[in-house]
Amino acid sequence: MPDAITALERLGVAVPAVEAYPVRGVRFLSSELSAEADFPSGARGLSIRRTALHSIMIERAAGLGVDLLWQTAVTGISSQEVQLGERTIRARWIIGADGVNSRVRRWANLDAHSRTNLRYAFRRHYRVPPWTDRMEIYWGEHIQGFATAVSNEQVCVAVASHNPELRLEESLPALPELNARLRGAEPASAERGALSANRKLRCVWRGNVALIGDASGTVDAITGQGLGLSFSQAAVLANCLRSGNLVRYQAAHRRLALRPLWMARLMLMLDGRPGCQRRTLQIFQKRPEVFRRLLALHVGTLSPFHLALDGLTLGWGLLTA
Ligand SMILES: Cc1cc2nc3c(=O)[nH]c(=O)nc-3n(C[C@H](O)[C@H](O)[C@H](O)COP(=O)(O)OP(=O)(O)OC[C@H]3O[C@@H](n4cnc5c(N)ncnc54)[C@H](O)[C@@H]3O)c2cc1C
Repeated sequence: MPDAITALERLGVAVPAVEAYPVRGVRFLSSELSAEADFPSGARGLSIRRTALHSIMIERAAGLGVDLLWQTAVTGISSQEVQLGERTIRARWIIGADGVNSRVRRWANLDAHSRTNLRYAFRRHYRVPPWTDRMEIYWGEHIQGFATAVSNEQVCVAVASHNPELRLEESLPALPELNARLRGAEPASAERGALSANRKLRCVWRGNVALIGDASGTVDAITGQGLGLSFSQAAVLANCLRSGNLVRYQAAHRRLALRPLWMARLMLMLDGRPGCQRRTLQIFQKRPEVFRRLLALHVGTLSPFHLALDGLTLGWGLLTA
């Protein structure tokens, strides 16, 4: 998302154009209807393989003198130390950036969270020329499919649902438009799965331990905002560490998560409601500025006040369509 690129650039990381595929907006598709909106002011998102993004981030970290210990699991923490098996490292601060199943979070007794709406997501890349430069969301009845080009010859496809058994290829018949796009396309990567959830932690720090990224709470994958959120958290956390004040991190962390969590809930109101999906798309087709403004709010360039107006339009449209 464009706001994630800005947050990443603030950390001194620039993604070279050759490494990524530009994305100019979002398209929703459902029951032969489609509606699209572009990011505000011609802004572009970037679609990039995680392996490529990692290499770019590693280069920046190494340039700043960060010592990266590969293949080294953290096995425990104590008040001023991190254990790496037999080895111990003294630490003024300990940052848990160990993902959705964070062990640092458990060790620091920070697991308490609000109710989680857990979903299961699977992704795979296909060798097929991109048919769009927008991120596409295909709405099935109880499932969403996502398609985003990652290069001139590959498209990343993902599906998300509440069913832990449902794998990507099995779910394609429930998404006929996406299925048709992929007919005959050769897979270019193995299928990988992950949990996707809206999860808000009660507290993201204790003593000298702070959590960041998915370890500190998650937003549903439908937002495409997980990485952007962690880049913004990183900038705030660095400032808080400098001033030795993690209370401010907690407040800023909550503020940063508010918009993506809210947008995830708004979008997931369509999950399992085909009538609502159809009516929403009809409104977006009839009033494209509503979709455009919702997308602008999603990437942080529009205020919640304007959303209230669009929310009313959308609500009224759903009632009267
Ligand atoms: C299907 C799907 C699609 C998504 N699409 C997008 C998208 O388009 N855009 C976006 O911004 N976000 C997206 N997200 C969300 C995004 O993937 C996550 O928000 C992001 O990966 C979180 O990064 P992280 O570094 O916090 O955690 P992770 O990426 O999970 O990294 C945690 C790391 O910690 C390491 N680790 C764990 N335990 C230990 C230990 N004990 N010792 C040492 N290392 C350890 C792990 O090996 C891992 O490398 C998507 C998520 C899903 C499920």
